[in-house]
Amino acid sequence: MAYSAAARESYQRDLQNLRDAGLFKEERYIHAPQGADIEVEFPVGQGVAPKKVINMCANNYLGLSSHPEVVAAAHAGLDHRGYGVSSVRFICGTQDIHRELEVKLTEFLGTEDTLLFPSCMDANAGVFEAVLSDQDVMISDRLVHASIVDGMRLCKAMQDTFKHSDMGHLEEKLREHRDKRQRLIITDGVFSMDGDLAKLDVIVELAEKYDAMVFVDDSHASGFIGKTGRGVHEHCGVMGKIDIITTTLGKALGGASGGCVSGRRELVELCRQRARPYLFSNSVAPVIVAGALKVMELVTRSTERRDKLEANTLFWRQGLKDIGLDIKEGDSPIVPVMLYNAKLAQDFARDLFGEGIYAVGFFFPVVPKAQARIRTQLSAAHDRHHLEKALAAFRKIGAKYGVLGLTKSQIIEKYGL
Ligand SMILES: *Cc1c(COP(=O)(O)O)cnc(C)c1O
Repeated sequence: MAYSAAARESYQRDLQNLRDAGLFKEERYIHAPQGADIEVEFPVGQGVAPKKVINMCANNYLGLSSHPEVVAAAHAGLDHRGYGVSSVRFICGTQDIHRELEVKLTEFLGTEDTLLFPSCMDANAGVFEAVLSDQDVMISDRLVHASIVDGMRLCKAMQDTFKHSDMGHLEEKLREHRDKRQRLIITDGVFSMDGDLAKLDVIVELAEKYDAMVFVDDSHASGFIGKTGRGVHEHCGVMGKIDIITTTLGKALGGASGGCVSGRRELVELCRQRARPYLFSNSVAPVIVAGALKVMELVTRSTERRDKLEANTLFWRQGLKDIGLDIKEGDSPIVPVMLYNAKLAQDFARDLFGEGIYAVGFFFPVVPKAQARIRTQLSAAHDRHHLEKALAAFRKIGAKYGVLGLTKSQIIEKYGL
């Protein structure tokens, strides 16, 4: 047996080390469609009855994950184009609706062309290698998403970074790399842990000054950031000036799966020719494409859902501040409640669950040391009564731990780091 007793023991030790370090991740089972009200089994596999809770931690920003029109469109897609395509795109996995969705995404994002991928993780894994060579340089924000880090690893271009959202540092790097064939500035649109937005207006200005291209991963923005929900480029007034946008269909845009590379015609075409996850992984399922086409229709037809999300976000941010909790300020529906101490964040989240509120504590290594928090995320699926109930729970648990009205240094003094 190749999987020897020694090998098993060694892997069991690895797992135990994760548990001992408090880094072992537990799944919770949801016994319901995704939405504002869900039923969650936790702990799992012990016969505990699912608990009704309000979901404050989904990427279901527009509440479209279980929207009746999207579900109906997906049903129709299933009937008309079948369950699977059993092929990658370039052999026989491209249906008319795949191209139709690419055209709709192009219009929505204000770009020149779009290519669908099985996921945004795959889009990021394939895009850099497809458009850059070893004579180029990638200059990324230090807090970009893990999938971008992996995609950069697969590309032969030189790698460099700039301090998070530090435009002075980015400018230094652009100067330093003047000799390269291409410079690609790489950033997330919305950073998922703090909910802050990239300074795309300044980034585009610098790109023009130093002859660089701009890449933005707008997974936490497409569909709702900006006046008509196009993304951070709309918010910052630089639509049409981003050379490559990657984004996901797995968050606001229906929440199923799928991603894309959208941008300059030649760059998208090069991805179609060369990007390995596009060439060697199966097409997005027709049922998802049909659902996503309905999503694009809904977000183009009206801004009602992103407007409701924005109102919910303002109400929630103000509510938490009024209670005396310490939040990270920002413009996105990602609202971190700062607790700094890892154990406090875990205990707080567990007690919230007891009160029927589902939100998750984040701590090192997901966020920097001494930056533990509970990350809350708003949705257009939330109604006022959900948010009022959630605020009451935050007030109750906040009072239990004596953190209401405390500043950062007072919380740290009380609980340590
Ligand atoms: C969620 C996310 C991804 C991954 O998207 P998938 O389509 O689920 O693979 C990539 N980049 C960013 C910034 C994300 O937030």
